[in-house]
Amino acid sequence: MEYKLSFKDYHKALMKNKLMGLKCKACGTITCPPQMSCRNCTGFDLEVVELTGKGKITTYTTIYVAPEGRENEAPYIIVLVELEEGPWIMGNLYDMDPARADLDLIGKPVELGTRIFPGDKYSDGPAARPVFRFTDGK
Ligand SMILES: [Zn+2]
Repeated sequence: MEYKLSFKDYHKALMKNKLMGLKCKACGTITCPPQMSCRNCTGFDLEVVELTGKGKITTYTTIYVAPEGRENEAPYIIVLVELEEGPWIMGNLYDMDPARADLDLIGKPVELGTRIFPGDKYSDGPAARPVFRFTDGK
């Protein structure tokens, strides 16, 4: 069994600001980030699709103590976003001062952008991470 969309290809697309997912041909469910099988019916008949990257915030957390090598990024906000296509993905939210983050964030429309980070001790070379911004510009 092979991955239709490897994590490497997913990451490569992310570097170009594209969010790729997998659509199940059996039930139509979109899976993202990529897995070997459909997250709904565990089917293996998947096709690669490009996602809009638009969705709304379902929950968030503020990181005050960053992992080793990323200390200078803290504090920052991590959001869990429910995409229009259904899957939930995590990313950074840079549009807001972490000190101002409150429950009003939940339900806010956001869209994906990508920020390229220099490599750290956990990666081999620069890494792209999903970053969200408010769709309404606020
Ligand atoms: Zn399925």
